Amino acid sequence: MTSPKIIAVDGPAASGKGTLAAKLARHFGFHFLDTGLLYRAVGYQVRDAIGDRDAAIAAARAFDPAWLTQPELRGDEAARLASQISAIPEVRTALLDFQRRFAAQPPGAVLDGRDIGTVICPDAPAKLYVTADVEVRAQRRLKELQGRGVVSIYAAVLQDLIDRDTRDSARSAAPLKVADGAFVLDTSALNADEVFEAALSWITPRI
Ligand code: C5P
Repeated sequence: MTSPKIIAVDGPAASGKGTLAAKLARHFGFHFLDTGLLYRAVGYQVRDAIGDRDAAIAAARAFDPAWLTQPELRGDEAARLASQISAIPEVRTALLDFQRRFAAQPPGAVLDGRDIGTVICPDAPAKLYVTADVEVRAQRRLKELQGRGVVSIYAAVLQDLIDRDTRDSARSAAPLKVADGAFVLDTSALNADEVFEAALSWITPRI
């Protein structure tokens, strides 16, 4: 049996990892999962009881992939809710099987998130850690929000990213960090095409 062709893409918010991961999946003809959506869906499910740990665990255990299509999950409120409930170990455990089963699908899969290379698929043959300076990420996020017609202030966007980075990196359950063997790709000074080319030349010989 050949081992599954898995590309793990981790990194902080607005690093460009989602765009890159989707492009890689198209390039290789692999399945693609934005795992942030799972945490957003669970957080959104319990938005009226966000401090209630048991409610978050129950929602994660009842997780239904049909939840992933809700348009509200794309917004900043869902991102904040996600980063709160994602620190609960039982929530993460409840979502583990779904992600591993997704990753095992032939002919291969690309998953992006925070702990794909460290916890979900530690044996993935190709792992990337995509990052960029927080100011660069804040500028990118601001542009994206403005492009969607959302009135936003740079300082608030920056603070939101700093808060999320801190929560995601400081938590004890599957914190955001560079996985063993991951290629660290700093996209601060690169455009999307350059990021893709750099990723591709590293991944291709490994899968
Ligand atoms: O990537 P995205 O911005 O959609 O993630 C939202 C939040 O979900 C992150 O800030 C993080 O707290 C959580 N998350 C996680 N593990 C993942 C993906 C996302 O903890 N694999």
